[in-house]
Amino acid sequence: MFDTIFLDRDGTINGDPLGYINSLSDYHFYDYTFEALDILKKYSNNLVIVTNQSGLAEGKLDINNLNEIHHFVREEFEKRDLNLRAIYFSQDYHEDFNSMRKPGIGMFLKAKEELDIDLKNSLMIGDSIVDIQAAERAEMKSIFLLSGQGKSYLEDVKRDYKPNLIARDLLHAAKEISSI
Ligand SMILES: [Mg+2]
Repeated sequence: MFDTIFLDRDGTINGDPLGYINSLSDYHFYDYTFEALDILKKYSNNLVIVTNQSGLAEGKLDINNLNEIHHFVREEFEKRDLNLRAIYFSQDYHEDFNSMRKPGIGMFLKAKEELDIDLKNSLMIGDSIVDIQAAERAEMKSIFLLSGQGKSYLEDVKRDYKPNLIARDLLHAAKEISSI
């Protein structure tokens, strides 16, 4: 049904209590994440994670720790036959249209180029207004989640954007995805 499902990371597949995660021991998938991904797999098993990690530039995040976390994420997806094709992260601050940092669509354009993705038939799922803004700029469908930071963006998202679905969390999104 979708060429690719793009997933935000923090607040979407894992908790994000501090706004950044700098060690594997602080990285925890939500307890429903893999149940949700198992459902989503029926709609596309081409998954790509796109995550803003400006903490790298701020010195709050160590690149080796980030790589260790992403290695763990890849392994956990692989164990469950989830086809995680790539993880893209952005450490910059620019938010221009083509910037790597969401709401720029740089990470999506890179994924399109490297993985031959049809963005117009793809879906973005995330808990931030920038996830929805990037999805609209890239002409993708989107699901806005109220997990993570979602609730704080809800009014602005509803006023300015048109996500195809607003869901409580990734599991609810997966269960309601057939409506979009
Ligand atoms: Mg997020």
